[in-house]
Amino acid sequence: MVQEYGLFIHGKWRASKGKRFETRNPATGEVLATFPLATADEVNAAVKAAKDAFEGWRKTPAPRRGEILLEAARILKRKKEELGRIVTSEMGKVIAEGRGDVQEAIDFYTYAAGEGRRMFGETVPSELPNKMCMTLRMPVGPVGLITPWNFPVAIPGWKSGAALIAGCPIVFKPSSLTPLCAAKFVECLDEAGFPPGVVNIVPGYGTTAGQYMAEHPGINKIAFTGGVDTGKHVYESAAKKMIKVGLELGGKNAIIAMDDANVELLMDGVMFGAFGTAGQRCTATSRLIVHEKLYDQVVDELAERAEKLRIGNPIDEKTDMGPVASADQEAKVLEYIGIGKREGDQLLTGGKKLAGGPYDRGFFIQPTVFAVNRKKRLALEEIFGPVLSVLKAKDYEDAVAIANSVRYGLSSSIYTNDLRWAFRAMQDLEAGITYVNAPTIGAEVQLPFGGTKETGPTDTREAGTTALEEFTYWKTVYVDYSGRLQKAQIDTAKLVGE
Ligand code: NDP
Repeated sequence: MVQEYGLFIHGKWRASKGKRFETRNPATGEVLATFPLATADEVNAAVKAAKDAFEGWRKTPAPRRGEILLEAARILKRKKEELGRIVTSEMGKVIAEGRGDVQEAIDFYTYAAGEGRRMFGETVPSELPNKMCMTLRMPVGPVGLITPWNFPVAIPGWKSGAALIAGCPIVFKPSSLTPLCAAKFVECLDEAGFPPGVVNIVPGYGTTAGQYMAEHPGINKIAFTGGVDTGKHVYESAAKKMIKVGLELGGKNAIIAMDDANVELLMDGVMFGAFGTAGQRCTATSRLIVHEKLYDQVVDELAERAEKLRIGNPIDEKTDMGPVASADQEAKVLEYIGIGKREGDQLLTGGKKLAGGPYDRGFFIQPTVFAVNRKKRLALEEIFGPVLSVLKAKDYEDAVAIANSVRYGLSSSIYTNDLRWAFRAMQDLEAGITYVNAPTIGAEVQLPFGGTKETGPTDTREAGTTALEEFTYWKTVYVDYSGRLQKAQIDTAKLVGE
């Protein structure tokens, strides 16, 4: 029996007047649940619920807000296996990664709960006597969350955790490919006891529900993760309303392998970075830039390793790589494989859609490796699938020039045992994240996450201590207890005898 979900507004699941859509398992084609396409009126109702809840929520002491977040973390932990299996069934990542997706939300809620007892401002000396100066964090108000499908619990977890602890009610528009993960996540938040209206969910398509929300006058901040083209659209909508916007966009992340790299360690990292989540991570290792002295060895081993990966139903613990997330994803990845072939890139392994038997019901593509010319599209454009481009570099400078030649700047990595290269790379790579002797994936929630260039035009840094910046503004407070009018700059000059 396929479950039919509604909208969650003002603390209640409600039926919708909108048409419905199905969510399916990308490995088997099975219909998992159906959801409404939220109408403009329903988005209005969700935004109104969030606006009405704002006053009470911002006035709830932050440590109390933190307790509710901690309770949500406990519930998520209790339901981790169930949720992890739903992530795998709805999105297609292997079950270990499905559990990891949920763990990231648990970690962030636990971390954010602690912020409820920190949320530090500053006290700063005044230039005048009997006067005190300080800064306070203020919540921006109702926020709209628009999220992609590739981390269907983790990304909503990061965004909502930071917004809620800051005192902002949320209206959440999940990807239309993963509404079930979103609904299950919201059920956990509901159980944790957030007051009515503080958490709301409006499933639907980006071009309808997403856009209504981005353009809605009652939303004071949009937190968006997705592709660059959609990000531009959301950026424009936010600019028209002159509101805060956080954009986490695409990536074309590179590992640099220097000639002194530990090749075994490198290979393990490249396999995980390039083919984990079937390459559908914003931080996926999409390029491997290899020093010419190591190039032939690496290329031989890469093909051998990629061919050993077990492709299949991601719910099976033995599977190394599952399907891509949808028919559209499959078409896009196969199109890029075609582009590589047409542009003369050398196909080292893979390159085909898997067919026959259980593969016929899902969107399975072989792990694919191309040796690529640095000016070609496979070297420059985000593919978001199990396709790795390998490039040859003359030396360190050449490798960094290749790494920095793309319009994105999310994650980066260098494999070397030479401290000089490692420390230079930390400075030279144009990316929000640099790993040393680890692949481009593996973010931890207690550190800032985000990119530069077209990945992060708004300098968004989710997670870590910077997460609060996304959902608060700074208020500067001056308290003058001198009992007389004191004039900054003017009286100060007298005080120092000028
Ligand atoms: P999309 O940009 O297609 O969609 C992201 C979200 O935006 C979805 O919820 C989508 O709805 C919604 N949306 C689509 N059109 C609009 C619109 N006009 N107005 C408002 N919302 C809209 O990205 P994908 O979901 O395909 O995710 C893949 C992309 O996300 C990749 O480019 C990847 O690099 C990036 N990404 C970046 C990360 C980062 O932190 N930098 C992390 C993870 C992914 P719908 O589902 O209906 O299309």
